[in-house]
Parts: sequence; C-alpha cells; structure tokens
Amino acid sequence: MNETPTRVYAEIDLDAVRENVRALRERAPRAELMAVVKADAYGHGALACAKAAQDAGATWLGTATPDEALALRAAGIEGRILCWLWTPGGPWQEAVEADLDVSVSGLWALDEVRKAAGAAGRTARIQLKADTGLGRNGCQPADWEALVAAAVAAQAEGTVRVTGLWSHFACADEPGHPSIQLQLAAFRDMLAHAEKEGIEPEVRHMANSPATLTLPESHFDLVRPGLALYGVSPAPELGTPAELGLRPAMTLKASLALVKTVPAGHGVSYGHHYVTDAETTLALIPAGYADGIPRHASGRGPVLVGGKIRHVAGRVAMDQFVVDLDGDHARVGDEAVIFGDAERGEPTAEDWARAADTIAYEIVTRIGGRVPRVYL
Ligand code: PLP
Repeated sequence: MNETPTRVYAEIDLDAVRENVRALRERAPRAELMAVVKADAYGHGALACAKAAQDAGATWLGTATPDEALALRAAGIEGRILCWLWTPGGPWQEAVEADLDVSVSGLWALDEVRKAAGAAGRTARIQLKADTGLGRNGCQPADWEALVAAAVAAQAEGTVRVTGLWSHFACADEPGHPSIQLQLAAFRDMLAHAEKEGIEPEVRHMANSPATLTLPESHFDLVRPGLALYGVSPAPELGTPAELGLRPAMTLKASLALVKTVPAGHGVSYGHHYVTDAETTLALIPAGYADGIPRHASGRGPVLVGGKIRHVAGRVAMDQFVVDLDGDHARVGDEAVIFGDAERGEPTAEDWARAADTIAYEIVTRIGGRVPRVYL
C-alpha cells in the first residue's frame, strides 16, 4: 500500500474489482466481458482497474473517448479496446495505428475511419453501433441499411473490418420496462440484416451492468458492464451490492480536521441552514464539492465517525463540510468514512446518491482529481 494521505483519499480495493469481474462473468458464462473503464474507471483509476479486470478475465476494455483508449495503450495496456464517442476530426489515424476497435454510428464516421486506415496503410477494426431505442448515439434503423452497405463496400476495399455489432439499453435498470424487449427485437433485426449482407462480427453486444445482472437474453457474445465492476449497485430496485454478489471497490476516507463544541443557537456553514438547538459537538471533514462531495447532499449526506453514522450539518462547501457528532466526542485526526461498504457498517455511494437526489454512478465518478487514490 502507498503512504496514506491525510486529508481525504479514496482507497481502491483492486481485489474487489477482480472479484466483481469474476462474479459478473459467472452471470454471463457464455459471453466475453468488456470492462468499461471510461471516465477514469468511474473515478477508480483507469489503468489500475483495466489491469485488474484483465487479470480477472476481461477480454475487452471499453472507453467513451478515443483519448481514454489511447492513454491506456500508451501506458502499455494490450488486448482489445473499443472506444465509442467520436467527433469529426478525432484521432482516427492514431486509433487505427494503436489497434483500437472504433465505433461507427454513421456514414461520416465510416468515411473518416476509411481515410485514416488508408493513411495508416492498415485495416481499421470497426464496430457498427445501432440505435435500437436509446435515442442517443448509434445508427437509426432507417439508416442502418445504408450504413451496412457502406461498411460492406469498405470491407471489400480492405480499409475496414467489422469486428462488432452493438447497441445500448435505455432502461435496463428498470426490469420489465417495455422498451427492453422492443430494443432486443430491434437489435435482432438489425443484426440479421447485417449478417445477411455478409458481415461476420466477432462480437455482438448490448448488456450494461443491469442487463448483465438481470437479463441473460441480452448477453449475446459479450457483456459490457461498468458500474457493477466497481461494486456499486446500478439501481436501488436491483438490490444492494451484497445482494448482487458485488463488493464496493472504493472507500472514501478523510481525517477530522477539527472537533469543537459550539453553544446552542450557533449557525453552521454558509447560509446558516443548520442552527444548533443545544450545545453541540461538530467535526470538520476536509473535503468539499471541489473533491466531488455533492453540495446537493447538504444537511443529509451520511458519514461514519467513531463507529456511528453522522450527517452533514449545513451546507457542503468547496473544500470542507461539518458533521454533527450527536453528543459524542472524537479527536482531530480520527478517521471519517464518507462512503464504502455497507457490510462494514459504512455509508455507501448509493446512500449519498439518495441524499443528493442523483444516481450512484455520479457519486463515484465525480470524486475529483484532487483526491489521491490509494490502491490496496
Ligand atoms: N456501454 C456504454 C456504451 C456505456 O455508455 C456505458 C456506460 O454508461 C456502459 C456500457 C456501462 O454501463 P453500466 O455502468 O451501467 O454498466
């Protein structure tokens, strides 16, 4: 373990990442697993998590931006990496030269990747992305025939090889949502058309974390979980991490910077939204919204201090917030756990999501660059 920082830090348990990868592979035994490590592995550290996921059997990595994928390659990560969020003028040629698989959602992207492959003197590996109902990235069914025809022609000229056909769910975190079956049906139709036109993909894939956990018929050749790799539940309705067989990888800890007793009637933090009703002992946590602590959880966010859950008193500020010790005492330098594993009695990222009226994805991903990661 590295030297422990003193202010606020995120412990990342890479064994938990490895265990979660294995648990997810058991959920999808016939599929390969692509570990989604975009956004710095949802705040957990892309390089360390990519290696851990590969150790545990992930055969693919997934990133949103090409820069994220190129950074992994530059750091020595081998194996397949798919990146999917492209804009005109993006680093297509670097991607082809770095042996990335690149996602193509439209004719403009196919055109750019063909030119890049020509310039690099290589065949680009591309994956055609279908919009089966998410309404975000991906090719609409009405435009699919044209995209497939252009990809078949580009394959014939040798500039590209279609390695994958894929799509993404809108509501997989709401099991039984009618869009799920509609998207699956649309995907099957779009696959059938591409395959009839002679495309032979290595992998067909659709399943994010909730679909990997709850929808075996969506597993196809490969599952593509992100959040679940890090041991966080994609939605409260799906169960806690423990119920899903997952273990949280990130524990966000801080050292108390100050402990003090203030009289009754004392306002706490900006705006005085918290006023003590009696003499009160407060502890100062040296972390704030610049570190990713959601200001929206002011007055509500839970923190473990001295074996008990306390709550944010008043507003979360940029660099610090205060908790009410509920009449208990603590010492400067004592450990505070902002979130971690409920199995250890700690508050969770899911608890903070509820307190901030957001999703747990946002809680872990927003933990900022100012917060050191300590790998266990
Ligand atoms: N695939 C794509 C295209 C994504 O954008 C994401 C994340 O949003 C994932 C997979 C992983 O999703 P999740 O974190 O829900 O597993």
